[in-house]
Amino acid sequence: QAILNNVEKLPADALFDIKQRFSKDPREVKVDLGIGAYRDETGKPWVLPSVRSAEKLVQENPNYNHEYLAINGLPTLTSNAAKIILGENSPALAENRVISVQSLSGTGALHIAAKFISKFLPNRTLYLSNPTWANHNAIFQTQGIKTATYAYWDSKTKSLDLQGYLKSIKNAPNGSIFVLHACAHNPTGLDPNQEQWHQILDAIASKDHIALFDSAYQGFATGDLDRDAFAVRLGIQKLSKVCPVFICQSFAKNIGLYGERVGCLHLVLPQQDDASVNLASIKGAISSQLSKMIRSEVSNSPAYGAKIASKILSTSDLTQQWYKDMITMSSRIQKMRTSLRDKLVSLKTPGTWDHIVEQCGMFSYTGLSPDMVQRLESQHAVYLVSSGRISIAGLNDGNIDHVANAIDEVVR
Ligand code: PLP
Repeated sequence: QAILNNVEKLPADALFDIKQRFSKDPREVKVDLGIGAYRDETGKPWVLPSVRSAEKLVQENPNYNHEYLAINGLPTLTSNAAKIILGENSPALAENRVISVQSLSGTGALHIAAKFISKFLPNRTLYLSNPTWANHNAIFQTQGIKTATYAYWDSKTKSLDLQGYLKSIKNAPNGSIFVLHACAHNPTGLDPNQEQWHQILDAIASKDHIALFDSAYQGFATGDLDRDAFAVRLGIQKLSKVCPVFICQSFAKNIGLYGERVGCLHLVLPQQDDASVNLASIKGAISSQLSKMIRSEVSNSPAYGAKIASKILSTSDLTQQWYKDMITMSSRIQKMRTSLRDKLVSLKTPGTWDHIVEQCGMFSYTGLSPDMVQRLESQHAVYLVSSGRISIAGLNDGNIDHVANAIDEVVR
């Protein structure tokens, strides 16, 4: 038999397959609530006004070109991105404890972190929230990292299982790795409150676990970058006394640069009490290892989106416009949450729907069963993932009645 004849066919990616089925659906009224991408009030992808202005500035620059970036990325992007997540006055930045490299968006940052963990922090189990973003398992497992789950979502109460969460932290072997969603948890839209974060991070610190923050939605939970960075900044304060902290940062959603693949990996090194330790040389060594990994995988990161993001982060007018753009997106999503809840309540749809407004970020974990999701698609051309997660950003005044009536029908 010829070689390659026995290659096993894998099922399509559940999320990207929804988009395919949706595009092929000939029905006139159809709604895509699958992928987590912002849509404006007409249901169209939205190029942020700050991005339009930045693109103009980038292209008008007399030195505009398409040369390669350095292996570790565009320095004005990585340094400004670090300030966005860590804060202007971050002690870790002041103490020069942060290594930042550019990555292929959030996924690329997670991938490089996984490679680094597998080489330099081997034989540790990595804990993911139950449930979590579908790609997390694959990203870490393909690097040979053993994964396990920690308790997170209590489906009965549709709230955080804090006791279960703390118990998972306690029961994990010392020095395990915990992947924490920085804000706007995907898929549940449920974040710990500030008091709960204190408890969670204290528990992680007491076991010398290493935290890896996945920050894909900064600005989407509250519309405010600093508030949405609360957990990361508290985590660094509590955890980076003895352990490194990883931060995987995506600009796909908050700058709307999805396909341009703009992100960063930041590695915050522990505080050094011993004056004989040469921090600069440790940083240099780690940076060189990250460079080697990036070079062999992608050589260097894409330049165009990085230049746009960097222009926004380094030009005061554009940064101010970007803050407004984030408010535009997060407040429209909030309005759609309220609207969907109100419509379901007025239809007297069986069940309780307050969780839709209580959850934050791009998603709502509705509690709809896989059967109901199936029927939403087949009978009503409303597309969502089988877990019952809906991307609220896909709702607008033109389709929300259709969606509410469809949910009402499948729940009864
Ligand atoms: N992490 C989480 C939790 C996500 O939901 C996503 C995207 O949906 C990502 C990371 C990575 O996204 P990207 O690679 O597009 O930046």
